[in-house]
Amino acid sequence: MNILIIEDERAIAEVEKAYIEREGFSADIAGDGLTGLAKFNSGNFDLVLLDLMLPGMAGADVCSEIRRSSNAPIIMVTAKSGEEDIVAGLDAGADDYIVKPFSPKILMARIRANLRKGGGENTAAASLIKVGDSLVIDPQNFTVKKNGEEISLTRNEFLILSRMASRPEKTWSRDDLITYALGYEYEGFERSIDSYIKNIRKKLSDAEHDNGYIRTVHGFGYKISDGVK
Ligand code: CA
Repeated sequence: MNILIIEDERAIAEVEKAYIEREGFSADIAGDGLTGLAKFNSGNFDLVLLDLMLPGMAGADVCSEIRRSSNAPIIMVTAKSGEEDIVAGLDAGADDYIVKPFSPKILMARIRANLRKGGGENTAAASLIKVGDSLVIDPQNFTVKKNGEEISLTRNEFLILSRMASRPEKTWSRDDLITYALGYEYEGFERSIDSYIKNIRKKLSDAEHDNGYIRTVHGFGYKISDGVK
């Protein structure tokens, strides 16, 4: 599945892209309506995530332009106060809308629902993430198992662990983890990442240093090591 994100706020677009990719789909970003239309027309997209407040061409106009040539599902992304924009967008042929700030779970549920309606969704479930031989993370059902035993993590602990595990051996700064795992609506401090990591290690009975799942990269942040047995 290939999803086009039309969104002028780069940080929001990057977070949406990260969530979409974690689900096993691919995503492309356009920063304004005209670029979005050009990309849509030259690519092969299964769904469009369309911000309504765009510079230049309004979201509702982008929507009706896309509708001239395609029935791909369009989900509008809008601010709370945007009732009139939502109505205009739906009138212009959008299928659904989602209000900012949204949770990644809601975003992905809406995307899956609209892909199903469009009839195009590949029924293969998002793939499991494995770390070494013992740890299995299921991004679809938000579960983690170690040697077959389910480990109970909080939402933020799960998001941090699964994000890191999706790219083994990549070093994540605390700031990266806030942006790419917890998302822009997260209002904590970089140091709170350390307490999440500490809790995850405790729950996984993870070794502190060189032979654990989560390695501390001094001066930088953390990474997941794939070499764990
Ligand atoms: Ca905007």
